[in-house]
Amino acid sequence: MRTTPLFTRRHLLASVPAMRAACMVDWGREHPGEDQGAGAAPDRWFDRPMRWAQLTLVENDPGRFNLQEWLDYFSRVHADAACLSAGGCVAYYPTTIPLHHRSAWLDGLDPFGGLVAGCRKLGMIVVARTDPHAVHQDVCDAHPDWIAVDASGERRRHWASPEMWVTCALGPYNFEFMTEVTREIVSLYRVDGVFSNRWSGSGMCYCEHCRDNFRAYCNMDLPRTTDPQDPARRHYILWRDQRLFELWDLWDSEIRKINPAASFIPNTGGGALSELDMVRAGRKAGTMVADRQARRGLMAPWANGMNVKEYRAALGSKPVVGIFSVGVEEPYRWKDSVQSEAEIRIWAVDGIANGFRPWFTKFSGVLYDRRWLKVVEEVYDWHYKWERYLRNEAPLARTGLVYSQQTARFCGRDRVAGRVEDPGLGFYQALIEARIPFEMVHDRLLDTEHLSGFKTLILPNVAALDDTQCGQLRRFVDGGGGLVATFETSLYDEWGVRRPDFGLGDLFGARFAGKVEGPMQNSYLRIEKDSSSGQYHPILKGLEDAGRIINGVYRVDAAPLQRLPSVPLTLIPSYPDLPMEKVYPRVTRTDVPGVFLQERDKGRVVYFPWDIDRTFWEVLCVDHGRLLRNAVDWVSNEERPVTVAGPGVLDVTIWRQRSSITVHLVNLTNPMMMKGPFREFIPVGEQRVRLRLPAGRKASKVQLLAGGQQPACHENGGYLEVVVPSVLVHEVVAIDL
Ligand SMILES: [Zn+2]
Repeated sequence: MRTTPLFTRRHLLASVPAMRAACMVDWGREHPGEDQGAGAAPDRWFDRPMRWAQLTLVENDPGRFNLQEWLDYFSRVHADAACLSAGGCVAYYPTTIPLHHRSAWLDGLDPFGGLVAGCRKLGMIVVARTDPHAVHQDVCDAHPDWIAVDASGERRRHWASPEMWVTCALGPYNFEFMTEVTREIVSLYRVDGVFSNRWSGSGMCYCEHCRDNFRAYCNMDLPRTTDPQDPARRHYILWRDQRLFELWDLWDSEIRKINPAASFIPNTGGGALSELDMVRAGRKAGTMVADRQARRGLMAPWANGMNVKEYRAALGSKPVVGIFSVGVEEPYRWKDSVQSEAEIRIWAVDGIANGFRPWFTKFSGVLYDRRWLKVVEEVYDWHYKWERYLRNEAPLARTGLVYSQQTARFCGRDRVAGRVEDPGLGFYQALIEARIPFEMVHDRLLDTEHLSGFKTLILPNVAALDDTQCGQLRRFVDGGGGLVATFETSLYDEWGVRRPDFGLGDLFGARFAGKVEGPMQNSYLRIEKDSSSGQYHPILKGLEDAGRIINGVYRVDAAPLQRLPSVPLTLIPSYPDLPMEKVYPRVTRTDVPGVFLQERDKGRVVYFPWDIDRTFWEVLCVDHGRLLRNAVDWVSNEERPVTVAGPGVLDVTIWRQRSSITVHLVNLTNPMMMKGPFREFIPVGEQRVRLRLPAGRKASKVQLLAGGQQPACHENGGYLEVVVPSVLVHEVVAIDL
């Protein structure tokens, strides 16, 4: 199948700005009518399931695994939806499609059908899992053009199972063969959906179909560089998006022809590094599945909540389902392993606190290690018991942390970690430490409607912003919003091309003075009093005695638009850090601003012209964490929706329910916080929770959903104060109104 060319010859001959405009058609905004897709119909099932169970069968499971034991478990944990292996790489039902590989252990059995029937008896939603990323030799022999081709022109053997071949996701294997498989599964079992894993390819493919289709799209050869400034690469990013959305549409429409209530659910998406345009995916999908199964390496336990927030930014109020694995997720892929009980629990509850509907996944129907069964059952049991406090009508957070796919795609290049991921992670950590509830915001959803609930936005080195986005941010601040921005924010356009000046220079009160400096060794920032009041600015709260603090590692040379009477932080330039005899500042004081503060009517802006958030992620300097917290509090210029005072590190979230408010406190205080797995939980002592009640409403009942008791509380002047005696893992303060 060939793609419909988006570009006509006229486009190809057109100027670069016209080319950009044409590309914009495919990036982010202009897809009228897409809301009419899977998500829109009111009678769909997406909002019903609260707890998912996934059993991914392995080829030798048929006849060996205990089907009834699994169904009993699903029932015991009150799972109301299941995802079950059906076909693709291996078929677990008696398929009649040629080349659709039946499990060699199938032997006349239909384990998929058995599981579907059992789940139906339990009243569960049932989604079939397919995995089209690998095929056996017979497929390669019959259709060599279905196999992915590497840059050197070789067909790709599977990296882990070398007797198999890696498929091309963008050609006839998916568009024709897997469409037929999908149809067969939905026709035979009338499932509620098809969830496809690894459906979008395994890296760049240079097969004949990809070559031809890409040439038809933009009259170019497939790119051989990852540099987004290369025109072919830029086209490729957009073409691949388009091709995958075509596949999504095709499978969805074929499924719905057979079962109008069903839908295609791609395993896709995420944050700034998401492979698919999340704005478009969020519009199209009725629900999405955030697949971050467990921690690995140096990853904080709040990363699961972050993932959920990233999906919610695109999906709005549509349900986000979160996959968590019971196994160890490290590069060595011990897929049959079982994680520590405490680690499974913290990962799942942080997702729940941040609004996901839990989905546990287990690979292999035969169990080698049964220790996970109890912890998942306990988490699900608790979730079932308190379901009415966990449906989450809307988050009440007033702060939004922006993530930018645009910056990652067009500005990140090979430094995407340092430029995109780490600043976001650093700010995330700072907000967690500050206990400020917040949401994630997609950078292409900065319109008034999407920002209506927010008082404050944070731009953690959101380097690539187009003029429309800058205009939206200006309107936000003019409307009384607060803004915190760092480093190269708005210094590039939407294609990652350096602007002559900041797109948001007027908001920052700064102009780009021509260079970006770093890495800097041994540089500092001097703490200054306001020259007229003789007081320290509120963003220096807690740093008054410091004299000076460490600087970051990179800085943008930014000059004030107007002469500043006073600057709270000024640059102390780098000086030698060895030999020790030479370690003394050559310049002890400058007037170079380390921060720009603006007040525009009701709106406030803090701009740090350095990589404070990225450095915080690398160094975790307490002073930088304080500065970030103070900056958010100062620009917010209102009391937080909830304040929680007490010891420890807590992930704090706050939700509006149908007739209640819930505040989640997830206890991340643990020696294994930044690198798991948790061994045990360390309880934190008394937490004093204070929140404003909706106007005219009183709390009729306050409960602690984990501790089980009715806490001491006090209502005064529209505020409710609740004393939580201790938090072991997770506490939920549920306030009925
Ligand atoms: Zn291909």
